[in-house]
Amino acid sequence: MRQRRAEIVGGGFAGLAAAAALAQRGWNVRVHERAPELRTTGAGIYIYENGLRVLESLGAYDAAVKGAPLAHSRDTRDERNRRLALHRWEPGKRVFSIVRQQVINALAAAARRHGAEILTDSEAVAATPDGELMLAGGQRLQADLVVAGDGTNSKIRDSLGLLAKRRYLPDGAIRLLIDKTPREKGAGDGGTTIEYWSGSRRVLYTPCSETEIYIALTMLHRDEAAKATPINKTYWKQCFPHLSDLFDRIGDQGRYDRFEYTRLTSWSAGCVAVLGDAAHALPPNIGQGAGCAMMNALSLAVHLDRHADLPSALAAWERNERPLTEHTQRISVFLGLPTTWPSPLRRLFFRWAGQSKWMVRQRTRTASHRPTGT
Ligand SMILES: Cc1cc2nc3c(=O)[nH]c(=O)nc-3n(C[C@H](O)[C@H](O)[C@H](O)COP(=O)(O)OP(=O)(O)OC[C@H]3O[C@@H](n4cnc5c(N)ncnc54)[C@H](O)[C@@H]3O)c2cc1C
Repeated sequence: MRQRRAEIVGGGFAGLAAAAALAQRGWNVRVHERAPELRTTGAGIYIYENGLRVLESLGAYDAAVKGAPLAHSRDTRDERNRRLALHRWEPGKRVFSIVRQQVINALAAAARRHGAEILTDSEAVAATPDGELMLAGGQRLQADLVVAGDGTNSKIRDSLGLLAKRRYLPDGAIRLLIDKTPREKGAGDGGTTIEYWSGSRRVLYTPCSETEIYIALTMLHRDEAAKATPINKTYWKQCFPHLSDLFDRIGDQGRYDRFEYTRLTSWSAGCVAVLGDAAHALPPNIGQGAGCAMMNALSLAVHLDRHADLPSALAAWERNERPLTEHTQRISVFLGLPTTWPSPLRRLFFRWAGQSKWMVRQRTRTASHRPTGT
């Protein structure tokens, strides 16, 4: 049988997971990443049981989680450092907080091991439903399948007119990594994430390797002082006086991203499939954007194996995966609503969200899901 060819746009979680999964199943795969190297934001990332299963299936698990702490609880605190809620992950359901670059490197290594080619400095600008991919230099490539994993501003998605809704949310975050102090290195317990709230601002403190802490500062998009980079330490110290020492450890690093939500009319057009943030961007309130991207990438390859013809495979893939992805988007947006509420209401909301069995089931449904192909 003729070897099928896939051209994949984007060397992020979606593109690299798709490359590994398709190459594993005998496809001739090429990834186009526009950046000069496979580099991601200097930040950490939570990968839950569902994403970890996908990494295992792709042969990327051991390298991805090496040295990363297994998270066990999330402590939510108010502006006076009083506990609002303590959420413990269900025993048996793994969650790792990891340096992002380590996961990207692990996925890229797995994709290459399975035979995929990864090109950097290769920008794609458009695709056609019959499987033609146009590169920025004018080159045209023909493939059996084009995968658009090119993130929230996806040119491939937009060249096919697939966008149904793109909504900027009222909040965003600055992400960065800082070195652990000798005391933090010696503390042993890297499994607790602490989320501090002060008004509409949040500080998320997460150990994510033997030597680094992941910090995410979340704020309203209109809060110019809070979203400035390098961070405005005087301002942040006024909001969180008990975290002054922490802000003093931050240098020039940090990148601001606004949260957004995206929905497509369809996840595919002819021979082009759209994946990850390009198809279903969501705010990070339950840490599942990359998890969904990787699940849907593996599932795409599995469905292409199961069905003889491409249109049936793409239709079955979307039918199978879209409901859980949309549930994940809805819950993530819902849990971000209190950002704009007055503090007493927000406090009540988080108490309720931490205690309500129904709410906990909703927010952990994606993590508890057994992904297709695992
Ligand atoms: C503050 C914050 C915290 C988050 N925390 C988590 C978390 O804890 N857990 C989790 O699972 N998710 C988290 N997410 C979500 C997660 O980061 C995204 O869902 C994930 O990065 C999506 O992966 P992707 O591959 O679809 O897109 P991206 O990661 O955006 O990758 C797209 C890639 O395509 C390349 N590209 C773009 N355009 C082109 C082009 N035209 N040609 C070639 N290459 C191109 C880009 O350079 C990039 O490398 C968080 C997001 C934010 C903003």
